[in-house]
Amino acid sequence: MESEEWILGSQKSGQSPVNIDDKAVLPAKFPQLILTGHWLNDGYACMVNNGETVKITLTGDRIPSTIKGGPLLDDIYEFENVHFHWGENNCQGSEHTLNDTWFSMEAHAVHWNRKYTTFAECVKHKDGICVLAFLFLATDKNCLWSNFHLEGITDNLKYIHEPEIITEIPANCLHWMKNCLNVKSYYTYRGSLTTYPYNECVTWIIFPKSIMISAKQIDEFRKLKNNWNEEIKDNTRKVQILRGRRIFFSC
Ligand SMILES: [Zn+2]
Repeated sequence: MESEEWILGSQKSGQSPVNIDDKAVLPAKFPQLILTGHWLNDGYACMVNNGETVKITLTGDRIPSTIKGGPLLDDIYEFENVHFHWGENNCQGSEHTLNDTWFSMEAHAVHWNRKYTTFAECVKHKDGICVLAFLFLATDKNCLWSNFHLEGITDNLKYIHEPEIITEIPANCLHWMKNCLNVKSYYTYRGSLTTYPYNECVTWIIFPKSIMISAKQIDEFRKLKNNWNEEIKDNTRKVQILRGRRIFFSC
């Protein structure tokens, strides 16, 4: 597929998340998607309970983490944060669904387009934001296994049960993203932020290779409290209508 077709085909924009129907996606060839710096062991990472979700930022003495290539044309996008969406139980919790099936949790790695100088400016443009979406599948409650690569995050959630509390976590806490990227296939479409004000500024890149997480690890997310001192049971937005948009499958 030519880049021009990609731009023209996405002029009809709409909201996110959406259901991805494998029977309706279009195969497409994009340049290689390249991530730099996300799982370096330099500097440090901060994790905060912002009353709605868990947000991780990378800071200190490290190079900026960036993505380029794939459907992003000639632009470079810089890492802003990773945050998570979960539900009341492990049968629901992702925002995007695949063939009408939910996953247990979804992580969003939010990046902003460097050609606009601020994040606030990026959300005003169709190509302002790129979000990498990772889908998690929880194990059975009786399973003793846990995902070692997620422990830098899940073992530290107990320190941020209350909103607005920040804790430092290992600098390479996003290492789990790497396995999904090795597969090289992903879905991509144009959509919106899934939280207010729902700007239609996002190029979504969704990795179909799910990441296993133990039921115990995912339970740690549900212990976080919002600003009303209630546990955050569900922070997902319901699936939106595609409205003529096309979802592409990079292969
Ligand atoms: Zn999100």
